[in-house]
Parts: sequence; C-alpha cells; structure tokens
Amino acid sequence: MTENEFTTTVYYDNDANSSAIEDKTIAILGYGSQGHAHALNLHESGVEVVVGLHEDSSSREAVRDDGLEVTTPAEAAAAADIVSVLVPDTVQPAVYDQIKDELNAGDTLQFAHGFNVHYNQIQPSQGIDVTMVAPKSPGHLVRRNYESGEGTPGLLAVYQNATGEAKTEALAYAKGIGCTRAGVVETTFEEETEADIFGEQAVLCGGITSLIKQGYETLVDAGYSPEMAYFECLNEMKLIVDLMYEGGMGEMWDSVSDTAEYGGLSRGDEIIDETVRENMESVLEDVQDGTFAREWITENQANRPSYTQLRQAEKNHEIEEIGEDLRDLFAWDSE
Ligand code: NAD
Ligand code: MG
Repeated sequence: MTENEFTTTVYYDNDANSSAIEDKTIAILGYGSQGHAHALNLHESGVEVVVGLHEDSSSREAVRDDGLEVTTPAEAAAAADIVSVLVPDTVQPAVYDQIKDELNAGDTLQFAHGFNVHYNQIQPSQGIDVTMVAPKSPGHLVRRNYESGEGTPGLLAVYQNATGEAKTEALAYAKGIGCTRAGVVETTFEEETEADIFGEQAVLCGGITSLIKQGYETLVDAGYSPEMAYFECLNEMKLIVDLMYEGGMGEMWDSVSDTAEYGGLSRGDEIIDETVRENMESVLEDVQDGTFAREWITENQANRPSYTQLRQAEKNHEIEEIGEDLRDLFAWDSE
C-alpha cells in the first residue's frame, strides 16, 4: 500500500441520506462499548433496532431497561436488513456462524473494525454488502457525544458492494450514530485494520506504556524516588497529550518552558532513534503479512496463555502499585 492510496474525502451530515436506512431494520449483535452506543443512537435517529445477544447474556436486562428489543443473534439477523457485528473481534467468527444463514441477498453485514474480514476469519457470502463504520473513539463517547448533539469522527469502508448501494447505506448508518456530525473519512478494510493495529502496538497502547516504564525505571534505578518518577513519567503525560490533542505539537511546545522545549527538541530523536524506527517497521510487517493476526488467533484458541502472563506482569509492575497509592493520596482527578 502506498501513501498515495490514502483518500482524504471527509463526509458530513449533508453528504449522508438517512432515507437509505430509515425503512430498514438493523440488528446490533453485542451490547458492549460500541454495541450499546450504536443501538441507542440509531434508535433515537428513528431506525428500527433489534439487539442480538446470547440467551444467557448478562447484558439482556440492560437492553430492555434501555427500551430496546432483545433476542438471539440468529433471530435478530433474520429480522434485519443490516447486521452490525459488535461483539469482541475474537468471538465474531463464532457469532457469524450462528447468523450466516439468515443473511439474504441484498442484506448488509456491517463491522466497526476490519480484523476478521481482512484476515479471512469471516468470509462473507456473495450477494450481500459488507461495510464498516468505525468510530475513532470508545463507545461511551460515541453515545455521550450523540446525546449532547456533538459527533464522533469515524472511518467508513466498503468491502463488498453487491447492491451498488453499500456506501450510501454505510453513510446513512454513520449519520445515524452521529459520526457524520464530526466527519467520516473513507478508507479500506485493509488500511483500517493494519493502521489501527499498528497504531495501538507501536504508539498508543504498547509504545506509550513501554516509554513510560523505561523512563520510570531509569529514574528509580538512578536513585530518584518512585513518587517523583511516577509524576514525571506518567502523570504529566496526560497534560502533554491534552495540549497536543487540542492544538497539535505546536501548542504543546508553546506551553512548556523554553528549557523543556529545547531539551525535548534536541533529545527526543536520541531516545526514539532509528533502531526504534526499525522495530516499528518490523512490527508493521508482522501486521501486514498476517503474522500478528495468526499469533493472536492461536493465542485465543489456546485459551490465552501468553496474554494472561503478560497482563499479570504488567499489573505487577512497581509503577502500578505506586500509582494506586499516589492517586489515592492526591485529589487531582477527583471530579
Ligand atoms: P465489548 O467487549 O465492549 O463488547 C462486546 C459485547 O459483545 C459484550 O458486551 C456482550 O454483549 C457481547 N459478547 C461478549 N462475548 C460474547 C460471546 N462470547 N458471544 C456473543 N456475544 C458476546 O466490544 P467492543 O469494544 O464494543 O468491540 C466491538 C467491535 O467494535 C469490535 O470489532 C471492536 O474492534 C470495534 N471497536 C471498538 C472500539 C472501542 O473503543 N471499544 C472502537 C472502535 C471499534
Ligand atoms: Mg483502535
């Protein structure tokens, strides 16, 4: 994939035609982070919504309390024209097996992340549309923004366009959950999946936690107090990221002291140097050639042995204990 394939068209409310979904029934499979937000937002946008959950799912009551209809995934899919698969990525192939016979020609299979389609864990039948509307935010924000009249930026992609209407319908879906209020960018299942997984590994979830831990350990090993190391390497991260989120790196550089700016500009690339770049390229390769996907699928089939160990090790890191104590002592985020 080259840089030039990236498309920068942004779609807003005016580009989306709600009539593409207003006479349709949408099944929302799963009622977690994304599921509850999509279901409630679409319902309040005037679309017929039915939630599909296992008979023994603990979320069934929540769905009814929220005033929505709930049934099994298969029954929901049978009743629906659009089936939105919002169960965890690791259980999607099994849930797809329960619903695939209910998908008729002209129906739509809709996702919020491309993993299973891109890595061939779900192979949709011909004759149906396969789309993705992926809010770039956790579900509780998708819901909160919708309720307050704001939007949540999102990505849209069409994998299979059997009806010729796949994109029109996906745009209407994006409008129904509030994404076109903020802006929706068109992409592909490949680009969304690979960029998303790379981002969370290299920068967002993996990169940032390792950077924080290495910084913390460097200070503590050199004799500085764990409390000081926690503040300098973890707590202040939020303040810095908030500034970049608001106004880019420029606003962050403007807000810190000249000493911090000069030190950061002159030393940053020394820390995150070419070897880190090479590591990132290797991580990206594993994402692109399916190595990571295969590892993650096998890991789940084996009941997550490495995942469980890694989670425990992370939990046991000193910075987590220190942080718990310090967050209890100080009331900086008590609101
Ligand atoms: P989640 O873990 O919050 O919720 C999944 C829900 O699925 C559960 O609440 C439950 O209702 C149901 N479920 C769980 N296990 C099940 C099983 N074994 N069988 C049937 N149903 C089961 O999931 P999520 O984070 O909302 O993710 C859903 C999709 O949205 C995924 O494709 C994910 O990649 C995508 N996505 C998530 C986010 C996010 O921030 N959470 C953002 C963008 C896209
Ligand atoms: Mg993501």
